[in-house]
Amino acid sequence: MHYDTDYGKLNRNMKTEFCFSRYHINIGMSISVGALKGNQMKKKLVKFVTALLSVMMLLLLLPGLSTTSSAVSYTPSFQTVKVGLFYGSSALSSANLENASGYGSGYRFGYYDDYREFQSIGAATGETAISILRDVNMYYDSSSNRYYAGTSGSVVVGCFHIQLETAYSDYSTAKSAADSFTSVHAFVKYSYGDYYVCVGEYTSEADARSAADSLSIAQGFSITSGGQYTMCVVSTGTDTILLEFEHGTGRWLGVEPISTNGEKTLTWTRGYKYYGGFQFGRFNGGDLTVINFVDMEDYVKGVLPYEMSADWPLEALKAQALSARTYAAANFYAHTGFDVCTTECCQVYRGTNSSGYNSDLAVEQTKGQYLLYDGRLATTYYMSCDGGATENSENVWSAALGYLVGVEDPYEAIIADDIPGYYWSYFYSNEELTREFSGYGIGDVVNFEVSEYTRMGNVYKITLTDSDGKSISFTKENVRLVFGFPSIRYTVTPVGGSGGSSSSVYMNSSSTTTTGELSSSYAISSTGSASPIPSGKVYAVVGGGSVEEVGTSEASSGATGYKISGSGRGHNIGMSQWGAYSMAKYYDKTYDEILEFYFKGITITNR
Ligand SMILES: [Zn+2]
Repeated sequence: MHYDTDYGKLNRNMKTEFCFSRYHINIGMSISVGALKGNQMKKKLVKFVTALLSVMMLLLLLPGLSTTSSAVSYTPSFQTVKVGLFYGSSALSSANLENASGYGSGYRFGYYDDYREFQSIGAATGETAISILRDVNMYYDSSSNRYYAGTSGSVVVGCFHIQLETAYSDYSTAKSAADSFTSVHAFVKYSYGDYYVCVGEYTSEADARSAADSLSIAQGFSITSGGQYTMCVVSTGTDTILLEFEHGTGRWLGVEPISTNGEKTLTWTRGYKYYGGFQFGRFNGGDLTVINFVDMEDYVKGVLPYEMSADWPLEALKAQALSARTYAAANFYAHTGFDVCTTECCQVYRGTNSSGYNSDLAVEQTKGQYLLYDGRLATTYYMSCDGGATENSENVWSAALGYLVGVEDPYEAIIADDIPGYYWSYFYSNEELTREFSGYGIGDVVNFEVSEYTRMGNVYKITLTDSDGKSISFTKENVRLVFGFPSIRYTVTPVGGSGGSSSSVYMNSSSTTTTGELSSSYAISSTGSASPIPSGKVYAVVGGGSVEEVGTSEASSGATGYKISGSGRGHNIGMSQWGAYSMAKYYDKTYDEILEFYFKGITITNR
C-alpha cells in the first residue's frame, strides 16, 4: 500500500539523468531584537534563575509528581496475524508442509477459534512432510512434489472411501478402531465434531463397493466421496491418508507444527519458510486457501527485509519495524478471511527467507511498540526518498492528517549520489504532449508549466495550454501520475523558442548565489503557495524598506519542448526510507527521533 500505483501513466520519454539544483529566492529577513545592556542582562538572568529554582523546589516538595512522562500502552486486538499466502486465483489444489528446523517434528491437527487460538482435535502425526489435498481424485507428480487432480500417475489418492457408521467422540478411540484394519489402510475422518473410521481410498464408487464386499465388514457403512469443503491430509509422495477433515464452512483445518523442545518452529511451504501455524480452507468449495497464523513479532520479522534492506543501520530498521507492526495492527480483517496478504497491496511478507541479524534485532528491540496519533493507530506511509521535502497529505491525496505534514528533509542531500535514481529528468516536445493529452479535450499544446507549488516546494498544480488558449490542469497526486513521474518534486523548463526576454536577477540556491531568469522564477503568496511570476515588471522590497523595480519578466514563447527535472521517488507522504538511512548512519539519530521527524506529534507506545 505504501508504494505508488501507476494508473493513468502516459508514455514517458526518459532522456538523460542529471542533477538540477532548485533555485529559491531567499528574501532575507532580520528580526531586530533590542540588545540588552550588561546590567539589564544580569538582572534578567538572576530573575530567571530564581524562578527556575522555585519551580524545582516545588517539584521536589510535591510527592508523587513525576517529571518523566508515563509510557503510553497499547494492546492490539490480536497478537496473531492471519496472512493470506494463497487465496482467490492463487488458491492451491494441494499444499505441502515440511518441517524446516531441527526443533520441529510432525504436526498437530485441529482448527483456530475466534481468538485465533489453536484448538486440537486430538489428531497428530510424526511425519515431517505432509500435503493437504482437496478431497477429489488426486495424483502425485514427483518432479514438482505436488498433487494434481486426476488419476494419471503411479501414486493416486482416490476420494471414495468405505465410511463405517459408528461415530466416536474422540480421535484416539476412532484411531484404534481404524488401526484394527490390517489388510487395507484405514484412517480417521473428522466430521462436524464427530470421528469416523474410513477404509481405503478408491477412484470410483464401484471400486469402493467391491472392496467393501471382499472385506466382509461387520457393521453398517456407506461409500462416501469428498464433500465440497472436505480436505485430506496425506504423507507427501504417497497415497497414505493421515486424516480427513470436514466441517462445512464453519471450521477450517488448522495445522500446527510440533515443537519438541519449546523452540519456535519453521515450516517450508512452496519455497518459503514460515514461523507459526497454517489454516487450510475451501472458500465456495474451491481450491485451498492457505493462511499463515503467525505471531505479530514474527510477522514483522518476515516483512522488514522486504520493505527495507536487512543490512541497513539498526535504528532505521527499528523505525521501519514500528511502521510495519502498526500497519498490521490497523489492518485486522482487511481481506476476506484473513488480515493481510503477502504483496505490496498490504506489505510484502515471505516468511523468514530474507531475514538478517539486524532486521531481526530491530524487531526484538522494539517488541510490542506501536505508533499512535491522537490515541489511534497511525497509518505510517513511507516512500523511497522525498527528493528534499515531504508533503502534507491533503496536498497529495485528500484528507489532512495531523501527523502527515510536510517537512524539509536535509538528511537525504548528503547521500543523494548513493540513492539510485534520486535525480531524474524527462523531455517532452509540444508534439508529444499534444499526442499524449489528445483525450483530454485540448488541441495543439503550446505551453506546459507548473502553475502552483506547495509551500514545501513540491508541485501542486500543472497546466497545459493549447494554441487556442484553452488549458487543462492537474493537481495533487495527478501531477505525478498523469505522466508517471517518480515524484511530485520537479521543475518544468521550456526548451527552444525565443525563451522570453526577462531580466537576470541574483538568487540564492542552497549553497551558492547565482543568476537566473525572472521568467522562470516563482513568487510565494501569503498562503505559502508558489506560482510563476507573471509577465511584466517585477518589484521587490529592499533592505531599507522601499519598493524598487528589479526587472522585467516576459514569458517565453514558441518553446518546442520542456525539460522536467526532479528528485525523489514515491508519493512524498510520511517517512523517507533513505532519509531514515542517512539519519541513522551519519547523524546518529535513534529510531524514535527518525519517526518523530517524519511523523509530527506521534506517540510511540509500550517503550
Ligand atoms: Zn493485501
